[in-house]
Amino acid sequence: MNAPATAAEAAPPPPDTSPAVAAPHPAAAVETRFSNTFLRLKKKLERGVGKAIADFNMIGEGDTVMVCVSGGKDSFTLLSCLMALRERAPVNFRIVAMNLDQKQPGFPADVLPAYFESIGIEYRIVTEDTYSIVKDKIPEGKTTCSLCSRLRRGIIYRVAKEIGATRIALGHHRDDMIETLFLNMFFGGKLKSMPPKLVSDNGEHVVIRPLAYCTENDIARFARTMDFPIIPCNLCGSQENAQRKQIKNMLQGWAREFPGRIESIATAMSQVVPSHLADNALFDFRNLTRDTPVAEGDIAFDRPELPLQNHVISIVSEFTDED
Ligand code: SF4
Repeated sequence: MNAPATAAEAAPPPPDTSPAVAAPHPAAAVETRFSNTFLRLKKKLERGVGKAIADFNMIGEGDTVMVCVSGGKDSFTLLSCLMALRERAPVNFRIVAMNLDQKQPGFPADVLPAYFESIGIEYRIVTEDTYSIVKDKIPEGKTTCSLCSRLRRGIIYRVAKEIGATRIALGHHRDDMIETLFLNMFFGGKLKSMPPKLVSDNGEHVVIRPLAYCTENDIARFARTMDFPIIPCNLCGSQENAQRKQIKNMLQGWAREFPGRIESIATAMSQVVPSHLADNALFDFRNLTRDTPVAEGDIAFDRPELPLQNHVISIVSEFTDED
């Protein structure tokens, strides 16, 4: 259900009619749910989710959290972490797993209800044939994602209201946020990403992204070992957004070539210095006088400061420490 941020340019291939439920990854056999490595990974993910919830005040006493589960690794991991954290959270909150069956060809409608039953979570399955609407309205070869996402968003908000949800939790993670930051910078001319918490345009819903501090790599490893019944994400026939793919490749290249760079970008998203950018709406440059205090002081004539090695190391260990 994770929608690309902007429309894909390429023509969609024919719908995938291959078996809907992916086979377990071979690595699952190596790393078991009881191995120390896996338990450390689980702890790390839960700690990341707990920290995001605390940092952004995502969930409070009495909240009903509707977790949108698409059948992908991210939303399965999100649900699992939230359920684990609920056991020991200082506040009481309700979790309702929600899946929207958009009637895409080959969608295995029985997989998620069976999974939700097996883990004993309250759930709601909503069936709405947005697939036919999108196919009907969008000419062949044109991108379908923006209409599909709009329709989905409307349904999610409606269902959240019906079940009395005070929070809508989505499975976007740290790397989705970084990709979106670069997508917006490269193609949208904006310094903007996916926020960990936002209010819907009509002011009725609070949307949260508790995986905001979790890496895609960790989530993928966790999902493999947990052997979640993953549903392929290409049933609609749409291709991954070409621009997002390009950004993903760029970031993966950086991660290989410059260890610590991605972590530094993630840290940078929470350390914005408006007085050292150029947005008059964020910082009142026009009325800046000699008396205006400026964060980080005068660096107008300095060379940009390079991070100290120790700083990089501490950032890296913050994100990779598995104890
Ligand atoms: S068209 Fe397919 S890829 Fe695009 S948002 Fe809808 S389900 Fe996702």
